[in-house]
Amino acid sequence: MSSADLLRPTVRAVSPYVPGEQPPAGRRVIKLNTNENPYPPSPAVLDALRGAVDGTVRLYPDPEAQALRARAAAVYGVPADHILAGNGSDELLALLLRAAVDPGDRVAFPVPTYSLYETLVAVQGGQAVGVEFPDDWTLPPSLASADARVTFLCNPNSPSGTAVPLAVVEALAARVSGVLVVDEAYADFADEHAMSLVTRAHNVLVLRTLSKSFSLAGLRCGLAFGDPDLLAGLRTVKDSYNLNRLTQVAAEAALGDLAHVQANVARIRATRARLTTALRLLGYVVPPSQANFVLARRPGVGQAPVAAALAERGVLVRHFDTPRLRDALRISVGSEEEAAVLLEHLRHLVRQP
Ligand code: PMP
Repeated sequence: MSSADLLRPTVRAVSPYVPGEQPPAGRRVIKLNTNENPYPPSPAVLDALRGAVDGTVRLYPDPEAQALRARAAAVYGVPADHILAGNGSDELLALLLRAAVDPGDRVAFPVPTYSLYETLVAVQGGQAVGVEFPDDWTLPPSLASADARVTFLCNPNSPSGTAVPLAVVEALAARVSGVLVVDEAYADFADEHAMSLVTRAHNVLVLRTLSKSFSLAGLRCGLAFGDPDLLAGLRTVKDSYNLNRLTQVAAEAALGDLAHVQANVARIRATRARLTTALRLLGYVVPPSQANFVLARRPGVGQAPVAAALAERGVLVRHFDTPRLRDALRISVGSEEEAAVLLEHLRHLVRQP
């Protein structure tokens, strides 16, 4: 008997989520594979963090993250009792499934999308129902009739970068049978968001993260916005102290300096426009992105060798080895300089026979 036999059969059968590659320590690379922000967080965040590094770390953090939630309530115009803070929005996704999905329950989402959904559903023993996006990345109509306990909509979607209009999200919320989770990890880079649905539709959970637009991926903070009765279920299954003291302090400070975030978002959107144009000139098909990354396809031409060649040259981008995405690269927007280096290498690589 192997020790693996001691595990739940459900867990043994799960293929773990594969995060983007981390460069070896000490190697300088241009990292465009996990949609991090190329710009540092607000100086106010770093000041608040420094101020919080003292003997109080012997104390547990506030299990309810009240100061952070009060700040989030003011920023997003949603009552604090409609907000739950998590250790990254990844934790909030897991909590929702743990609270809402029994073994065998159906969980639907359009695909391709954030592949963690499928892994988390499998861990929970749920039944993942992937509904293919059409080539134009509009919402597949049959998603609403999938008869699911939970429906995930990553909006803007990863890896396509495309977004479904708010009116379509609202119509979906009215039609699904269970919870609609609108994963808005990239909404700050988009033209629209669904926050207004939180107080209007009792079955909608909107997820935000401070990992992307707020440049805080290393600190792990996500926010869930939804009906208090829905959030009560997530509280029941969460660790009491899921968000550490330093993260609570940093996240509160970050939400206090929106001007910093807006300036970085504007820079990234400008670089995104230039990167999209340049990639199209190189022959890539690039759907209009509303996120801080773009999906660049060369229809029918596998892009694994291109991703590998870029990595050799010190530029990491994301390649997914699935039938629908094999001929595509997902490229984080990065700074203007990083995008220029990437394009220089790509020009060289795509010209080769
Ligand atoms: N949702 C989507 C669509 C993402 O791409 C990511 C980042 N990988 C997350 C959620 C998780 O973000 P966080 O860092 O808040 O856990």
